[in-house]
Amino acid sequence: MTIYVWGYLREYEKERADILDAVDKVFGSGLLVWGPSVGEFERDFAAYHGVPHCAAVDNGTNALVLALRALGVGPGDEVVTVSNTAAPTVIAIDTVGATPVFVDVHPGTYLMDVAQVESVITERTRCLLPVHLYGQCVDMAPLEALAAKHDLVILEDCAQSHGARHKGRIAGSMGQAGAFSFYPTKVLGAYGHGGATITADPEIDRELRRLRYYGMEESRYYVVQTPGQNSRLDEVHAEILRRKLGRLDDYIAARRLAADRYAGALAGTDVVTPVLAPGNDHVYYVYVVRHPRRDKIIERMKAYDISLNISYPWPVHTMTGFAHLGYAKGSLPVTEEVADEIFSLPMYPSVLGEDQEKVIDALREILATL
Ligand SMILES: *Cc1c(COP(=O)(O)O)cnc(C)c1O
Repeated sequence: MTIYVWGYLREYEKERADILDAVDKVFGSGLLVWGPSVGEFERDFAAYHGVPHCAAVDNGTNALVLALRALGVGPGDEVVTVSNTAAPTVIAIDTVGATPVFVDVHPGTYLMDVAQVESVITERTRCLLPVHLYGQCVDMAPLEALAAKHDLVILEDCAQSHGARHKGRIAGSMGQAGAFSFYPTKVLGAYGHGGATITADPEIDRELRRLRYYGMEESRYYVVQTPGQNSRLDEVHAEILRRKLGRLDDYIAARRLAADRYAGALAGTDVVTPVLAPGNDHVYYVYVVRHPRRDKIIERMKAYDISLNISYPWPVHTMTGFAHLGYAKGSLPVTEEVADEIFSLPMYPSVLGEDQEKVIDALREILATL
């Protein structure tokens, strides 16, 4: 059986009774949308993060879109983020009519180089959008200082960092809002699409709730206050997510063990393993390593029935769809250099054991004859 960078079937085997019970509970309840599970999940997810509010939505991209809108970010505004991210980070900024502004990434962590942020701030800058990429957090203190100095809001993209901590604080609780995805591959994944935004600000939460429900107040049906969209989370996904949330810390612990195993096995080779930034507790959404002959390694792994991938092979500013932003090749040198050399090893809680040993053995054989 092919080993992919991500798979959920072993996990499903283990949790099947609980998942099917969740499905049966919702399907037999008579309430497929707007039932109790969404509210219960929101309460539990907010509590997990120690914040008062959570609004569940249909996916992570819309969690970002609605959060930006609820924060008042729109046409004419600039949002500072990175090009080394999943395209939806930037799509969300584009969707609300704002302009993405990129800074380069740090050569060790591949996360936002916060030292560069102040140099791109203009009077149109409205929002800083750090992406806690791969499972660890961006250095937040410098961003918080800049936000205070220039009167900006901070929206955290937490799609890859459920449960990650930075100097003791949990991802999503540090900015005005934190947006999450529950796409199946994520650290907390649904059996389909899902997303959520958390915030400590009741006004932001209220606006989020309106915007995900066509723009209508939940208590006043059929009256639109702010034109919004339909971005509600389905009951069945909420119920599954609510149950999986109780196991999130176990998933993270397994990912950390797998990461330790990889780091130990690759010590002494010329594969560069993930660098943990000071004060960070990593959750290893993906296990990103670096090697100058990356393409060759990926190609040769196929002979072992192991299919690797790259997060991400094309920085967003080099994509044709964002050519209008005017970032020439070479404008974000670290981002571009890193994109040519990184690749991801299989990472999911149940990779531990048989799957991971196969990956490590194959990789060692390839490295010995590269
Ligand atoms: C997955 C992801 C998203 C988008 O989430 P979807 O649920 O797929 O819409 C946004 N940002 C980052 C960094 C992601 O990894």
